[in-house]
Parts: sequence; structure tokens; C-alpha cells
Amino acid sequence: MGTHISRPAADLRPNAPRTQPPLGPACKADPESWSLDHGGLPDWLRAIRICVTGCPLVQQCWEARNRLYPNEHPVGVIWAGTAYTDTGEPLLTQQALVEYASDGNCRRRQRRTVAA
Ligand code: SF4
Repeated sequence: MGTHISRPAADLRPNAPRTQPPLGPACKADPESWSLDHGGLPDWLRAIRICVTGCPLVQQCWEARNRLYPNEHPVGVIWAGTAYTDTGEPLLTQQALVEYASDGNCRRRQRRTVAA
């Protein structure tokens, strides 16, 4: 005896609306969330999680990153689930991300103080 898989009746209608395929990777729709110049720790953790657990292109993305940066790292971005500092250092642990976010907040506060 097989398991009956039920589908919503709407799926079976010839003119039923189709679910729209995604328009592309989340980083394309919201590039600022993948930039370490913007946002902060919660945004970066969210972007990394989307790369690693929600992006069907992560393998191709990682291969592209390795092809484009064979001997160095990208700068100031989250790429294929890895965050890179403004000097291209990969932030491989959550603690490293926390420290970088904290340093960035200090620098932003200093810039605001100097500008005032
Ligand atoms: S894995 Fe690559 S393409 Fe996918 S969301 Fe992350 S950075 Fe974008």
C-alpha cells in the first residue's frame, strides 16, 4: 500500500496561478545586506545564514569567488557565506564577526564625533 500524497486542488486546475520562481539570489535583491559597510552584526549573520542554508547557488557562488580571487580575498562583503573585512580578512567565526562589528561601531562613532 503506497502513501497517498494529496495536493491542493488549485494545483490541478489548468489555469491555476503558478508559484513565481525566485527572481535571483537574495544578495542581488538586497546587496546592502551583503556589504560590511552597511548594517551590522544581525544583518551579516542573517545574510550568511541565507547563503549557507537558503541559496541554491551557493556552490556556483563559491566557485566564482575562487575563480575571481585565486590568490586573495574579496573586500568588505559577504560572499558564499563568508564575510570578508575591509582589508580582505575572512571572518570565519562568530566571535570574529562580533569583534569586527564592535570595531566598526567604534570607528563609526569616532567619525560622527569628528564630523560634529
Ligand atoms: S551564496 Fe552567493 S549568490 Fe547566494 S545569496 Fe550568498 S552571496 Fe548571493
